[in-house]
Amino acid sequence: MGVDKIKETEPLAKRIHVMTDADLDWSFENGNSRAKYRLNTPNQNWGYTCYVDPFPCYSMDRDLVECIAEQVERNFPVPFKPSYFILAHEFDDRCNGMASYNHIYLDGADRPMPIDPIIVFSGKRIPIHPGMQRYLIAHEYGHVVDYNITYMRKEEINAMDEEYAKMRGLSLDQKMGGRKWHTNIGEIMVNDFRVLFGNFEPEFWPHPVDHPNNSAVVKKFWDEMHAKYAKDTFPPWMDKDEKK
Ligand SMILES: [Zn+2]
Repeated sequence: MGVDKIKETEPLAKRIHVMTDADLDWSFENGNSRAKYRLNTPNQNWGYTCYVDPFPCYSMDRDLVECIAEQVERNFPVPFKPSYFILAHEFDDRCNGMASYNHIYLDGADRPMPIDPIIVFSGKRIPIHPGMQRYLIAHEYGHVVDYNITYMRKEEINAMDEEYAKMRGLSLDQKMGGRKWHTNIGEIMVNDFRVLFGNFEPEFWPHPVDHPNNSAVVKKFWDEMHAKYAKDTFPPWMDKDEKK
């Protein structure tokens, strides 16, 4: 079942959710009783399930999340803004954070389905260095920018990857998994974003390509993206009723 119209976007402070032990869901699920969080984005009637290790952890700093998110949302505004979730436990896969989205199923809509993006920050067993946090917040928002641009171009997810690899002089590599992260084109794309739209932790550059601060080609590409897509108004093909 879908929704009639998209909900009005909440201000940033209301889109940041701090999860605690009390939010852990221990329900049985097809014989699997792993601890998990159920994360709800505003336009969904079903939750995003995030499996975690229940070992007690340190969380990302809520105020730092707001501070950095405010900057990146201003530097590159998007119509479909993320909900941010700060977890008190670590992802099962030990990654630091993730971005994703749910489609918003508009009843009767005949056009690309709008998106409801989500950013989730994992807890960690050791307190998380503020530089790591600044990096991660800007990085994950970069994925949300990618989703929004893709949507506004009426393309499928990962559509920009091929174009991006070409611009970066790389052969397309979308592989993900152990030691494949640093060559994944989507991760290179959003780390370019992270540096060019706020210069967050620029010395952290784990990729086998030029640093974006030294690349006129990458800067030009993102200047063009910014000129075309950095706006928080809904795309013109969505009719008036759906804009709220
Ligand atoms: Zn990433």
